[in-house]
Amino acid sequence: MNVGVLGAGQLGRMLALAGHGLGMRFSFFDPNPDSPVRDVGELTAADYSDSVALERFTEGLDVATYEFESIPVEAVEAVAKRVPVFPSVQALKVSQDRVLEKRCFQHMSIRTAPCRDVASRGDLDKAAHEIGLPAVLKTRRLGYDGKGQVVIRDENGLADAWEKLGGVPLILEQFIEFDRELSIIGARSRSGEIVFYPMVENEHREGILSRSVAPADVGETKVRAAREYVRRIMSSFDYVGVLALEMFESGEKLIANEIAPRVHNSGHWTIEGAETSQFENHVRAICGRELGGAGAVGHSVMLNVLGTVPDVARIEGIAGAHVHMYGKAPAPRRKLGHVTVTGHDAAEARDRAASVLRAMAPEGVPA
Ligand code: AMP
Repeated sequence: MNVGVLGAGQLGRMLALAGHGLGMRFSFFDPNPDSPVRDVGELTAADYSDSVALERFTEGLDVATYEFESIPVEAVEAVAKRVPVFPSVQALKVSQDRVLEKRCFQHMSIRTAPCRDVASRGDLDKAAHEIGLPAVLKTRRLGYDGKGQVVIRDENGLADAWEKLGGVPLILEQFIEFDRELSIIGARSRSGEIVFYPMVENEHREGILSRSVAPADVGETKVRAAREYVRRIMSSFDYVGVLALEMFESGEKLIANEIAPRVHNSGHWTIEGAETSQFENHVRAICGRELGGAGAVGHSVMLNVLGTVPDVARIEGIAGAHVHMYGKAPAPRRKLGHVTVTGHDAAEARDRAASVLRAMAPEGVPA
């Protein structure tokens, strides 16, 4: 099976590493020639608007997928004319636009933060008045890892937020005083079978994921509700592949924030911590195979390595620690790798993760 991947970051790399074990071969397409996939597949380095390069990329492929949601839809559509692409372009379109995404959730009776479209300064004032402050102003498109968003605490912050983000289509969301951030990952096969990984508790620093704890300690009712949300989203898109849903937990409520129609950072722990990793289940799904079990094997804590390369040898020496470096050049706040720490129970995984944190370089290390 020859699998094409649009995008060639660490997610592409881990998809290929999982697929190699199943005898699959990988080709990537990305404008950046210096990418983490160089030793796991062939890379076509060209712009997403280069139709000739895209056509060449599809030659010999059996199936294609994408590994991040900012890929221009036109590029995915061009590939889809020549080879089956999963997940569907429709799911990608929705995930690229926060307003479409929220409308979609609301249409499926999935709870979201109250929100409004904002196209002008007048809209912003009106939206702030209607949903109240504090609130978060976000760009509709191309926002990730906390980029393209500003928290507005009170009326004095409105002008400043407009100054920072005004000029592109925006959305204002009520600021949710959440207890925790949770995510759930599901995988759906071509025949419609769905498996769910356990829910995960996520901690973000400045909008970037820093730590995931799996399985999260969440009651059955909420697990059922989160699964039902994912089921609705997947069946409405006739979805194939892995999908992540990020949510805020506030009291008894689960409030959907966003979907990622791809493998997700909050699922990296599944490489060592689950019966089948999210990466393997994604490639199994898109290649028309049966899915593997998604149950947790013990407990895991995933720590992102951000900004600087740590002393890997020190971390490797800690029981239960599994280091994954992506071969990327260091840059402030950049995701350079992750460490998954496994344990037989939650306390053991947490204690081992604390040792890993002490061994990691100071920048980017969650306290
Ligand atoms: P996003 O880009 O929507 O995933 O947001 C990045 C992070 O910002 C989230 O993981 C939250 O920590 C925070 N955040 C986003 N939206 C809200 C909101 N409506 N209320 C409170 N915090 C938020």
